[in-house]
Amino acid sequence: MDELQCPACGETEELVGTTKNDLIEVTCQLCDQKWERDPNAVPGCDRCGGSDMEGAIKAIVEKSRGSQLSIVATQVVYLCKVCDEKVLASYRVGRSPLMPDQLPTD
Ligand SMILES: [Zn+2]
Ligand SMILES: [Zn+2]
Repeated sequence: MDELQCPACGETEELVGTTKNDLIEVTCQLCDQKWERDPNAVPGCDRCGGSDMEGAIKAIVEKSRGSQLSIVATQVVYLCKVCDEKVLASYRVGRSPLMPDQLPTD
């Protein structure tokens, strides 16, 4: 992961990093997304072992009244450009948060 990119909007220029303990907290000046980066541990793919990862926003959903699912928070996840190629391709189009693999059930 050589190029820093905002996982939420894809911005690569307007990013500001501040050091926080051993981590770098990066803030995107365009959309206000914040995420942390560990300069010593580049996230790698646990399936193919590759290190060509791309950040994305994943939704944390909760079931509210009725059967409506609502997004209560988001987290930054790293997807493998090889293994998650299809997911990333559709994510880049709209950049709406990815849904969790498992949705809460009753
Ligand atoms: Zn952004
Ligand atoms: Zn992979």
